[in-house]
Amino acid sequence: MVHAIAVVGAGPVGSAAAYHLAQRRVPGVVRVDGSAVRGAFRQSGGSVSWHRPDPERSRAIEETARFIRSEVASGAPIRMRDEPYLYLDTGELVDGINIEADDLVDHLRRSTDGVADLDVGEVRAVEPGDGSHRVVGTDGEVEAEVVLLALGVANVGLSPGLTGEVEKRQLLVLDLPVTPSQQRLPHIITRLGEGFVYVFIKEIDGRLRFVVGQEDLVEDEDHASPVDYLPQLFGAGLAERFPFLAGASTAQVRWGSDWAGKEPHVHEPAPGLISVNCGSAVRSCIAVGRAAADAVLTAQRAAATSAPT
Ligand SMILES: Cc1cc2nc3c(=O)[nH]c(=O)nc-3n(C[C@H](O)[C@H](O)[C@H](O)COP(=O)(O)OP(=O)(O)OC[C@H]3O[C@@H](n4cnc5c(N)ncnc54)[C@H](O)[C@@H]3O)c2cc1C
Repeated sequence: MVHAIAVVGAGPVGSAAAYHLAQRRVPGVVRVDGSAVRGAFRQSGGSVSWHRPDPERSRAIEETARFIRSEVASGAPIRMRDEPYLYLDTGELVDGINIEADDLVDHLRRSTDGVADLDVGEVRAVEPGDGSHRVVGTDGEVEAEVVLLALGVANVGLSPGLTGEVEKRQLLVLDLPVTPSQQRLPHIITRLGEGFVYVFIKEIDGRLRFVVGQEDLVEDEDHASPVDYLPQLFGAGLAERFPFLAGASTAQVRWGSDWAGKEPHVHEPAPGLISVNCGSAVRSCIAVGRAAADAVLTAQRAAATSAPT
């Protein structure tokens, strides 16, 4: 059977694209995921702030945040906390939220009436068919006239011509208890050494925890396993900057590989084959998923126009 549209990858951006297609009542959409494959979103810190220097990026994040707030207000079971961002070095305090990315993805998946689900195991190849594309997985395959690839970093190997740097991302979850008067701590970002550190509070496994991340401070190219670099952060002055973190140890490392480029991309490497990546962030997935759904419908119209009559 050849489906009209296959959305391949049901992480934030694939789920958002399927959601937008379902909202527009587009028929013949099938969503394909390898349920055993871990998406980056399962490790996400869930931080969402739309105050960015790039206006386009800022708009995409704000659209996503507005969507989440409005769904939560209508009763959607998405865990969300208001969590402003404090840029310590400039004294700026701006709006932000922290969400549970799994909840957002589950909610999007549930809100897609008319979209069928297929699990073909781990997708290993996308092959050209006759006016279609065949998605080949370890446990089966699916063929569709238009295929949207939304497999996160796995897009890099499967989308023809797509090259891009993949980077490791890590968050250190600390073992310190969060006291009631610390619970409203904003997401704090500050320079440290040659880079940045950020500290925020997140509910993990039913408990509020301090979470620490860094950029450009510790080199970590170990894509195979987590690395506890808290001692290096203390060595660089973390406890002097945040005295309340002194004496902490790492209780858990959330980590994964992600697309290094912060620019979202939606492109069509072959007619009817579209590749989307949300620019290293759950926080822009609703806007990027909408752009991907638009591209899918454009490709579908183009295929209908060029089909022999
Ligand atoms: C440690 C860490 C912290 C982060 N923190 C934040 C944060 O605070 N805020 C933020 O906005 N972003 C954060 N991110 C980034 C964010 O999680 C990713 O950019 C985002 O999840 C990418 O979404 P995606 O839909 O493109 O891909 P993914 O989230 O990777 O989802 C891909 C989907 O495709 C499926 N899949 C993948 N490969 C295959 C395959 N070969 N076959 C079949 N199925 C497959 C997976 O099962 C998954 O459902 C963080 C990432 C990491 C790793």
